[in-house]
Amino acid sequence: MEICDIYHDKKIVFSCEVFPPKPGAEKDSILETIRDLKSLSPDFISVTYGAGGETKEETIEIADEIKNTYKMEPLMHLTCVDTKKEDIDKILNKISQKGIENILSLRGDIPTGRNFKSTASDFSYACDLAAHIKSHSDNFCLGVAGYPEGHPEAYSLEKDIKNLARKIQSGASFLITQMFFKNDFFYTYLDKIREMGINVPVSAGIMPVFKAKLLSRMIKLSRATVPSELISIVEKYRDNDEEMEKAGVEFAAKQIQDLIKHGIEGIHLFTMNRASIAKNISSYAGLR
Ligand code: FAD
Repeated sequence: MEICDIYHDKKIVFSCEVFPPKPGAEKDSILETIRDLKSLSPDFISVTYGAGGETKEETIEIADEIKNTYKMEPLMHLTCVDTKKEDIDKILNKISQKGIENILSLRGDIPTGRNFKSTASDFSYACDLAAHIKSHSDNFCLGVAGYPEGHPEAYSLEKDIKNLARKIQSGASFLITQMFFKNDFFYTYLDKIREMGINVPVSAGIMPVFKAKLLSRMIKLSRATVPSELISIVEKYRDNDEEMEKAGVEFAAKQIQDLIKHGIEGIHLFTMNRASIAKNISSYAGLR
């Protein structure tokens, strides 16, 4: 089923995100996670993709399992940084055969490591990838990423939203946001994108901070602003994993409750492959 139709049918679309195992690693544990997540009846499960194709096979395999073994709807992430058109076409043909219909069209982070050698990309931005996918086949429903606090490389939030509009013009029909810990950023962002005529459904990306050391990694990745309340929680429970997990679940669930009160269209939970945490959050927030 196309995810754009799910947004059409449901009042609140609830989705979960997982990441594939490292290339060559056993996939038993991710399959167990997916089996567990099924009990939550998520509207779709998204699978991340290692920029540059690092997890290409694993991402496709997991999306295939979600669709054909567990009979849920997968959203396969696909990045275009350092990738040739022919490689994208091969992937599109392969996933088409498996019945995978939904793709999150992404650029991916530009690698900066000393050992990185670019093979040169045929695409500069996620909008170029989206346009290419649509020209390859109109059978894919596309989502793209949005950044309530602006993408770290963007000159301003306004410029970033103009670039978001290009992704929608290129054929994307829904949006999943980067994590944020203060809902006000999301509400302001939503007002701004609507003012600029972007009317596709938007799912709010929620990251549960269930381990103290997760927070600094997450801030580095997303540059999200952390409210003092969350900093206090992390400081208080830094050495108590059990209490940290409980407080992290509660913080994320309260964020979701507030978003639901504001009538948002979708919640996208970054599960970090921890089904038990996803279950606790959705039950606390009254989602499932
Ligand atoms: P783009 O939309 O291409 O934007 C990148 C930058 O370029 C922005 O600053 C934007 O303002 C600017 N820009 C965009 N279009 C234009 C244009 N036409 N002209 C000039 N400037 C432009 N990364 C992964 O590697 N794998 C994943 O699976 C993954 N999943 C993600 C899921 C979500 C929900 C989110 C929010 C992010 C995810 N990312 C993932 C991270 C993402 O790849 C990075 O944030 C990356 O740096 C930007 O990707 P993008 O698709 O948003 O890029």
